[in-house]
Amino acid sequence: MSTETVIAFIEQRENEIKKASLEALSVCVKLADKSNKKSIAVLVGGTFDSYDKISATGVRKIIHVTSPELNLYSASAYAEIFANICKEETATLVFFANTLLGKDLAPRISVRLEAGIGMDCVDLTSEGQEFIATRPIFAGKALQQFQVLTKIKIFSLRPNVFPVVTPGSSPDLETVRKDSANNNLAIKVSELKKASGKMDVSEADIIVSGGRGMKGPEHFPLIETLADTLGAAVGASRAVVDAGWRPHGEQVGQTGKTVSPTLYFACGISGAIQHLAGMSSSKFIVAINKDKDAPIFSVADYGIVGDLFEILPLLTEEIKRVKS
Ligand SMILES: Cc1cc2nc3c(=O)[nH]c(=O)nc-3n(C[C@H](O)[C@H](O)[C@H](O)COP(=O)(O)OP(=O)(O)OC[C@H]3O[C@@H](n4cnc5c(N)ncnc54)[C@H](O)[C@@H]3O)c2cc1C
Repeated sequence: MSTETVIAFIEQRENEIKKASLEALSVCVKLADKSNKKSIAVLVGGTFDSYDKISATGVRKIIHVTSPELNLYSASAYAEIFANICKEETATLVFFANTLLGKDLAPRISVRLEAGIGMDCVDLTSEGQEFIATRPIFAGKALQQFQVLTKIKIFSLRPNVFPVVTPGSSPDLETVRKDSANNNLAIKVSELKKASGKMDVSEADIIVSGGRGMKGPEHFPLIETLADTLGAAVGASRAVVDAGWRPHGEQVGQTGKTVSPTLYFACGISGAIQHLAGMSSSKFIVAINKDKDAPIFSVADYGIVGDLFEILPLLTEEIKRVKS
């Protein structure tokens, strides 16, 4: 086996491993196995008793760097620790999930390793030592294929696009736990509170989003009830966030979050290019709009032309009936 390795950064928040990291790790393991290199998962912060979710991907080595200071993300400390591990382990390929943290950390690692980087990839194929990556450009209007030509290559992968593969724990799995003396914290975050206790749109498998067609914040319970029925997250267009009807954390689009759920409901959303930029890679899109010419229908797999105030309650009731 080559001494070179393929590494995935594993993101934890309050001791929960992010699913998007396991997706990136699954790609890491697959490509490492294919090129006869060791796959390594690196976890920074958190206090884990077992690494079941990580080891189930078939990864060969888990490195967990712990310190109470590292439980919350610190760009400077995480970058230093992770870049040093990549150097010690002779990583030639490094993967991140393209989450908020991944988008912040990956470029810092790229600078430290003098590695080329491809962000927000939705496809990655290998041809010998080279990789052809695909990412959406021009706000999702086109897909660009590109190669990273440096010796060390870094890719961040769009969440919910690559599957989590769980063949089971590798028989020769090696687990290394290191206490970190690195307290190189430019900023110390002492507490992190979520804007709401609800599910985050960037991690949800189903999203129900509302736009200006909802007419006011008092009508959003229609969206919330449908979301609760489906176990979905609530999303919003910028128009309703700017109007103060919904929190910014729910905004989907170019200046909000990029989402790739299996199912996306756009209710009373016209489908402006800036909104589509954040959700057009959803697997199935259902649009409800009273204007049959609304641009959202050009990307929708299922379109309902009609008044959402009539359709949403009927849809919610029908889904409840089918589920029961
Ligand atoms: C630099 C920049 C960045 C931006 N970033 C984002 C972003 O990140 N996310 C984003 O969403 N937008 C973004 N925008 C704004 C974007 O251009 C649109 O203005 C916004 O998406 C419109 O929101 P909307 O679809 O909710 O509202 P509208 O465009 O007003 O659409 C409302 C829709 O509701 C329908 N409707 C009305 N009543 C009903 C009813 N009773 N039943 C059914 N349908 C009904 C209407 O037919 C209409 O299609 C950005 C704009 C700029 C310039």
